[in-house]
Amino acid sequence: MSEKPLHVIVVGAGLAGLVIAHGLNKRNISYSLYDRESTPRDRSWGITLSWALPLLEQLLPADLFSEIKVCQPDPTLDSKDAGKAGILIRDGSTGLPKAQATFPVIRRVNIQKTKKHLAQGLDVQYGKKLLDISVEGDMVIAYFDDGSKETGNVIIGADGGNSQVRKWLLGDAAAQEVLPYAFMNFAFSLPADKAKWADSVMNPNVDVATHPKNMYLGLFLLDKPDINKPETWIFYFLVTWNIETKEDEENTPNRLERLRAHMDGWADPYKSIVEWLADDVVIKPDQLRIWQPTPWDNKEGKVTLAGDAAHSMTFHRGQGGNLAIKDAFEFVQKITAISKGEVSQSDALEEYDKGVVLRGEEVAISKAQAAAFHDYVNFDNSPFVKMGIKPAGST
Ligand SMILES: Cc1cc2nc3c(=O)[nH]c(=O)nc-3n(C[C@H](O)[C@H](O)[C@H](O)COP(=O)(O)OP(=O)(O)OC[C@H]3O[C@@H](n4cnc5c(N)ncnc54)[C@H](O)[C@@H]3O)c2cc1C
Repeated sequence: MSEKPLHVIVVGAGLAGLVIAHGLNKRNISYSLYDRESTPRDRSWGITLSWALPLLEQLLPADLFSEIKVCQPDPTLDSKDAGKAGILIRDGSTGLPKAQATFPVIRRVNIQKTKKHLAQGLDVQYGKKLLDISVEGDMVIAYFDDGSKETGNVIIGADGGNSQVRKWLLGDAAAQEVLPYAFMNFAFSLPADKAKWADSVMNPNVDVATHPKNMYLGLFLLDKPDINKPETWIFYFLVTWNIETKEDEENTPNRLERLRAHMDGWADPYKSIVEWLADDVVIKPDQLRIWQPTPWDNKEGKVTLAGDAAHSMTFHRGQGGNLAIKDAFEFVQKITAISKGEVSQSDALEEYDKGVVLRGEEVAISKAQAAAFHDYVNFDNSPFVKMGIKPAGST
């Protein structure tokens, strides 16, 4: 087989798309990278990168990887210390540890800071929403909402949980499943003394709890815009509970009131912090959606998926970002082998897709973990207690 110059169209400049583009760029493989957003989304959260960090290092330019500390919520946190602190699950009724998992190195990153950091050195074409795809001979064409189009050898849909590329590949089978939990994800600040207290008592990476009333609550740091001014520090809560009332079902806007009504019997640090929330704290409507991959026809290796587009899961075992990097790594390896003439495009992408679908077993594992957080008495049988934050077997 002879060398094959390739052009890869990457749809979506989230974690998966940005890392794929860097990996291709590093190996001198031509790419275009598109994202529908022209301004960052107003939602942010943290990701615990653990087992995928060595893969990320191989994909990124050395300077971006060595400076990745700037993406941390607290840039002063040492990643080895973070690994020792690990991930803490408490009993929400006592505040005492219930389970803990450590990892040699943990890099907790803020997703918005990470997207900004990783966009450096790439030509990201923002404000272009993919609408459609067509395959013509050996080539594949992407069509965007501004009337433009682009032709390449491969399209990879890294366009998130509601992926348009996935819909093109699978039609109705691409639809996500909505999980039956009330879900809130919102950021807040606190007066300086309270912010300092929260920061001193919480686990710096992941501090979450399961409560005997079958409820999950996680307290996290999102950012320290001024390390010396605790009143500027931004925290966030993730909260889920079983939908039980009509208000939960309709997700009525009185979310803070509904959250506070669920807090009886909770211990600190969660109890006090929920009490201290400003009455006008913004809690937007949200839903937990997942998608378990099922094989697709990749048109002889011309259209495929990565990251949340390929397997969207809940955050309850903290695996989605790590898997997005693993997909990116595997995809870049395959494209490199095709471009060197070592393997045919259809064989390489078939193998890539098989790996993606296998990694998708994490969707069911994370779903089981979500259920376990809402099933206090059986929590000790949960995937987290058995596997910690290690990848599932096939990864
Ligand atoms: C609250 C929360 C906590 C989490 N915690 C963790 C954790 O601790 N550990 C972990 O590993 N993971 C975690 N995750 C998961 C992790 O954030 C995701 O798995 C990861 O960010 C997915 O990246 P992605 O690039 O696949 O998708 P996205 O980040 O969703 O990026 C998709 C991109 O595609 C663009 N796009 C969408 N449609 C189109 C279109 N039609 N045309 C062009 N562009 C388009 C979007 O604008 C977006 O920029 C968490 C997720 C959430 C929500």
